[in-house]
This record gives sequence, C-alpha cells and structure tokens, in this order.
Amino acid sequence: MLKASVRSLIAGATLALLAAGASAQGYPTRPISIVVPFAAGGPTDTVARNIADAMSKALPNSSIIVENLGGAGGTIGVAKVAKAEANGYTLLIHHIGMSTAPALYRKLTFDPLKDFEYIGLINEVPMTLLVTNNFPAGTIKDLIPYLKANKDKVSFANAGLGSASHLCGLLFMSAIETPLTTVPYKGTAPAITDLIGGQVDMLCDQTTNTTVHIKAGKVKGVAVTTPKRLETLKELPTLAESGLPGFDVSVWHAMYAPKGTPKPVVDALVKGLQAALKDPNVAKRFAELGTEPVSQDKATPEALQKHLTAEIGKWTPIIKKAGVYAD
Ligand code: ASP
Repeated sequence: MLKASVRSLIAGATLALLAAGASAQGYPTRPISIVVPFAAGGPTDTVARNIADAMSKALPNSSIIVENLGGAGGTIGVAKVAKAEANGYTLLIHHIGMSTAPALYRKLTFDPLKDFEYIGLINEVPMTLLVTNNFPAGTIKDLIPYLKANKDKVSFANAGLGSASHLCGLLFMSAIETPLTTVPYKGTAPAITDLIGGQVDMLCDQTTNTTVHIKAGKVKGVAVTTPKRLETLKELPTLAESGLPGFDVSVWHAMYAPKGTPKPVVDALVKGLQAALKDPNVAKRFAELGTEPVSQDKATPEALQKHLTAEIGKWTPIIKKAGVYAD
C-alpha cells in the first residue's frame, strides 16, 4: 500500500517535471504579458514599455504586451502575478514598493520573498519634489516654512500606500515634521495630470515622469531626492543640501515571474532582459528620462534577490517608526 503511494508520488513528480520541461520548450510560443501595477503613462509603465519592446526583439518569436493594473499602491497587480500560472506568460515589473509593502500592509496576500522567481534589476530612478505652477511657494527655501504655516490647506498626491510617491512623501513630511493631506491615485500618471491642472498642490515622483513636464514649464520642480544634483535637472537643489540632511530616496525597478516558473524559462527571460538593457534605444530613452540601465551583473536573479532582501531590511524599521500601515 505504502509502496504503491510512493510509486504514484514519484510518477506524479516525474509528470510535473516533464510538464515543466515541455512548457519551457520553444518558449515563448504565445504573447507574454508584463503586469505593471500602476496606471498607463506613469513612470513604471514607461520603464516597462521600453523594456517590453526591446525584450520582444531579443527573445525569438515573442510579442510582449504591458497590462496596467493599478490600485492599492501596486499591491493588486503584484498579487495577480503571485497567483498566476508559473509558465512564463505572466510577468511583473515593479519598483521599490516590493520592499516596502511587507511593512506597510498588515494583510498582504503575497510574500515578495517566497512567491516569485527573480529575473533581474532594471534601473534606478531619482525622484523630484514638485508643486503646481501657481502654488504660493515655488522654491524649497519658501516651501518648508509655507507648509508648516499652512499644513491644513495643502494636498499631496501619491499613487497609494506602498507606492514610491507615497514613500517619498512620507519621508519628506516626517523630515519637516509636518503632516499634510494625502490624495491617492492609481498611479502618478493621473496624479501629475491633476498637479498640472491645479487640482492637487504637491507630488514627489520619478524623473521618468516629471522631467518632461518640468522642462515644459507645466509644473514647478522644487528639489531632487538624491544626495547629488542631476545632470538633466541641474538647476534643482537636493533636499539634502536644502536643510534635510541625509534625505536620499530613489526608485529601483525589477522583473519577476511567479514562483515555480521553469528554470529554462527563467534563463530565457534573464537573457532577454540583459539584451534589452544593452539595447542602445533603451539607454538613449532612459538617459532622456534621467535614468540608466543597470550593469549586466545586476540583471540577474541572484542580484535581485540580494537587493530585495537588503531593501526590505532597510525600509521596514523606517516605516515601522513612521507608524503608517494599511489593514
Ligand atoms: N511608479 C508609480 C507609477 O508608475 C507611481 C509611484 O510608485 O508613485 O505610477
């Protein structure tokens, strides 16, 4: 009896292995979908669409589409990929939020460290603090005292709890010890539209979304969130040099597949991602947006796993200290 069940277990395992092997054969044979857990036209979407185009040239016979699934700071889209079939046809491109969600959400329906196969890191993007054009304080020097005196009147947009804009806003408000009213969107594409229209007052967002609007004079750039000024936006001071020493936040993006995706498929995706990051069109487009592709050794499962683990370790105590969470 026992022998029979061991035999059927072995047979089952062999079948599963064969199925995994078979599903890797000739991969991909149909379109691949990359879930972006934020609205179309935003910074994560922009990065993902550039990568998807370049990867579909690099992976033989592939067509890669981007599916936008915004809401709840990105956690809805991530949960969908965590539960998707592990066959290489549903992937995820997400950002730093993968490392902040475990501290921010009491009930998270996925585990960033257990539910995914890692493909690799993509890039790191600085952020910019912005105000709407007719805001009474347009420089960082004027802004901080203005916010302290008018905190009940100012609205600060973000892409929901767990988004990069939320994290940046949280760090900024805590650095100036001034809580402001926050307004959540499904992504910073709709948030920046409202900032341009004057429906909200402030936003902190990636340069991939903001540079073009700052340069076009549609919003006012106040400061950058990195320790050094940026080549593309030289006129903007850093927050660190503007009285908030140590202020340092930038947003990294990475690619994931559901846990259990066959190794040959993961290997093919890693190769495809690495080729995309070497594509001169991607480098050119990223440079225009104030970012650059990571080096090839970072576009690997090992480098991503190490980075994600370190980032969870870095952000968890900061978020716990801020006392922000969602049920
Ligand atoms: N990166 C998000 C987006 O693409 C926004 C955010 O995380 O703040 O909309």
